[in-house]
This record gives sequence, structure tokens and C-alpha cells, in this order.
Amino acid sequence: MSAGLAIVCLATACSSTVAGRATVGSPLATSSSAIPSATDVPSTTSSAAPTTAAAREPDGAVGTIGDDGIGDPYYPLSGNGGYQVDAYDVDARYDPVSNDFSATTTITGTVLSTEGLSRFNLDLSGAMDVSAVTVNGAPAADVEHDEDELVITPADLAAAGSALTVTVTYAGNPTVVDGGTGGLGDGGWYHLDGGGALAVGEPFSASAWYPVNEHPSDPATFAVTMTVPEGWQVISNGRQQTDGLPAAPAGSTVFRWAIDKPIASYLTTVYVDKFTVLTDQLADGTPIVSALGPTAVGDRAAAESTREVIAALEEWFGPYPYDSAGGIFPGQDLGFALETASRPVYFAGTSIGIVAHEQAHQWYGDLVSIDRWADICLNECFASYAEWLWDARTNGVDLDARWKVAMADTVREARFWRSPLVDMGAGEEFTRVYDRGPLAVHALRAEMGDEAFFALLKGWPATHGGQVVDWTEFENYTSSIAGRDMKPFLDAWFRSTTVPDEPYRTPGSLGG
Ligand SMILES: [Zn+2]
Repeated sequence: MSAGLAIVCLATACSSTVAGRATVGSPLATSSSAIPSATDVPSTTSSAAPTTAAAREPDGAVGTIGDDGIGDPYYPLSGNGGYQVDAYDVDARYDPVSNDFSATTTITGTVLSTEGLSRFNLDLSGAMDVSAVTVNGAPAADVEHDEDELVITPADLAAAGSALTVTVTYAGNPTVVDGGTGGLGDGGWYHLDGGGALAVGEPFSASAWYPVNEHPSDPATFAVTMTVPEGWQVISNGRQQTDGLPAAPAGSTVFRWAIDKPIASYLTTVYVDKFTVLTDQLADGTPIVSALGPTAVGDRAAAESTREVIAALEEWFGPYPYDSAGGIFPGQDLGFALETASRPVYFAGTSIGIVAHEQAHQWYGDLVSIDRWADICLNECFASYAEWLWDARTNGVDLDARWKVAMADTVREARFWRSPLVDMGAGEEFTRVYDRGPLAVHALRAEMGDEAFFALLKGWPATHGGQVVDWTEFENYTSSIAGRDMKPFLDAWFRSTTVPDEPYRTPGSLGG
């Protein structure tokens, strides 16, 4: 994520992830004799009907109830426990004029609870009215929609380790959701000033328009089929699909987009408008497809910088991770930009530096996902430092000089150092990652030397791509690259609540 023009800091962009661990559900408060032990349920159990009479109880008398949160202390109700998701497939109709939205979303995953699930939650905005839910092909026994928690009781116990397929049919007028985007703006479904619509926001936005396990520690593949009135266009993550589309009703057009690598739910997006499509390609032929909204004329240069920016980032971070690239430029001042996977969303008047920031997230935050929001620096500190690298490359900025000026400005500012970059506390995720973050990363570069530092920058996504990670793994990886224990140095720069003491304060070329 990047802050919009209203926020001025050393680095102008940002992003965050809340991650939590998928937890098994809470055991039901029923007689333990009624609850089958884990060994009663083979891990190879299929999604077919359970084989015991007890397991067919529809009222939750056996198995476990999935938690209403995934276990992130910063956002207790974010995500859900008891299962994990492999894929979302949203099949929607939308009218941008009336903001009427209807959809059936199919969710496929696996039951994690060792005793099976008798009840589980999905996150879905209360603005949506749910009309039907099936679990493994059978209508659900009960469905409750309590604010933004959709509570589903399957007709049959969802057995431990089994495949889980859920379909949810719903309709409503989608809107923004509370608590999105870490104080930098709303998140959710925006009905744009120009008449189009856009789903975007961090940490929450997906639940505004589809049922979801809304937490970055459970990434999944994503596809959306959307039917809109003729004259409107739809763009989303990944590649556009043109084969096998359903027939469009009279006066309508059907679009389908899909991304085949798992991504966190806050990295999904959809943009409906009458936009201009800009196409280009990376050096290896990867298509670049960008959407330029009707009022986004001023963002064309930023959009067209995508190829050059990604080429530079590949030198620092390694091969571009997705099979499609681009950007969404709706031409509205959203207050932030966001690194939605393969196709970031930008605010009106965005700069090429912001493009560098959001595209850097494709490696740092998208390909490598964080397990908890407390480690957001793994996304933001590095995307912010990519802006520094871009400035040095394209504008000849002396980064040591920039660093020294910034340190001289802040070294006696206790407030600047009070908020750490790791374990900063709920609500403080974005306080310092954009300005103190790149200072810390540049200090790390000076401490390690360029050869080891750039090996770290490229090695981290190569080693942990497709994984959900935490700060401890980064400490260990950094130490392995440096060939020595880097934890004291990293603690001084990333965890301290005061300016780092010597010998850490002025490492390498930053001394003197
Ligand atoms: Zn960011």
C-alpha cells in the first residue's frame, strides 16, 4: 500500500498484511464421549457422506465449531478457523448504475479441524443478503448472517482432512467496509465518482463483495466472472479468460479473469468502468494489461512506466512472479494505492515512484505473504526501499546522503523512534514503515555490504515465494546470508523504541 498525496513522508508508498494462523476450531461443549477422536477420522476421508450415525448430526453435536477469527491478535475477528481455502470463484452480475450486485461464489478448500467441522464461519459484509448456501453439494442445515460473519451449519459433518466445497448465493448493494486500509482510507466496494466501481482495500475489502476467509495467512487462487450491461468493461487480477464463458444475457457482456497463484484476499480486486486498455509486455513476453479510467488521463505516464519499473525490480528481486502484469488507474483520489496481485490499484495523480513501490510488493507482500500484521515491515519497509533504489537508478540520488540528512533530522526526535517496525502494536502498523523503514533497510545494506545485501533482496523471495512467513524467519535468513548473527543489529533498527545506539547507528559507509 502507499499513502496518497495527503501524506508526506520519506517514502510515499505503503501496504500491509494481517496474517494469522489457521487454527483448528473450538471443541464443542458437549459430552466428550460424543466427540470422535482424531484417529476416528482418517485423514484420507473424502468429502462423501460421513459413515457414522453420530457424524450425521446436523446440530453441531459432534465435531468442532470453527473459530470466528484466524488467530491474529491485532484483528481477532479477521479470517476464520477450522479450514483453509484453496480457491475462490466469484460468478457475479453487476449494474454500475444501480449498484445492484448478485453472485454465487464457490469456495474450495480443506477441513483442518481434527474432529471435523459441524459449523464454520465465512466473512461477508452484512450489506449482502444470502439466499442459499451449499456445503459439499448439499443445502446447509442452517445459515446465520451476524453482521459480517456468515455462520454456516452443514447438513452433514465436514470430516477432518476432507475437501470442502461451499457455494454461497447472495445479492445486495456493496459498499465500503469499516476498518479498511489501516487508517489510510476506507476499503471495500467503491462506487466511483465517474459512475464505475472498484473493490480495493487493506486489510479488509474482499468481504464487501464475496464470502471469504479474510486473512493473508490463508492465500488462495482467485477467479471472477462478471456480467455487466453492454458498454461497461471489467478487469481484475491475472489473465483474462475468453474460452468457455457463459452466454451473456441480451444487452450484457461477460468478462472472466483468473490468477493461478495463491494470493491473500486483500490482494484481490475488480474494476468496472468504461476504461482505456493499455497493453505492453515484459522482456520475456509476459503481457502487461492496464486499465486507464475515463478521468485518469494524467496517469498515463505512470501506467506506461510499468515495463521499465518491473525490469529494474527484476534486477534487484529476481524474476517477476506472475504470468500477467499491469495496473488499474481509476482516476480517483482513493487516498492510497494498493499492491493488488499482478495489477496494483493507484490513486489519481500517482507517480512512477509509487509504481515502483506497488510493483515491488509483487515480490515483497504478494509472492511472500506475512503470517501476522505485526510483521508488515516485511512488506512495507522493502517496498519503500524499492523507491529509494528507483530514485538512485533513475534520478541519481545519493542514498547515503539522503540517509544522513534524514537521520540528522530525526536523531533527536523521540517520537520518530518510539514506534518500532516489528511488533508495533495494533493500529500502529503503518506509523513508521514508510519513513523509518527505508532508513533501517539502508542501514542493513551498509552493515552487510552491497554483495550480501543484494543477495538477500533476491534470495528472500526466491527462497520463500509462495510461503507465509514471519520476522523470525527473516532474521534467520539474513544471518545465513551474512554468515553471522544479525539479530542484535536487526533488533536495534527494527525493534527498538529509541534511535539505535553505536556501533549499530552508523554502520559501514554511513559512518563519519
Ligand atoms: Zn506498500
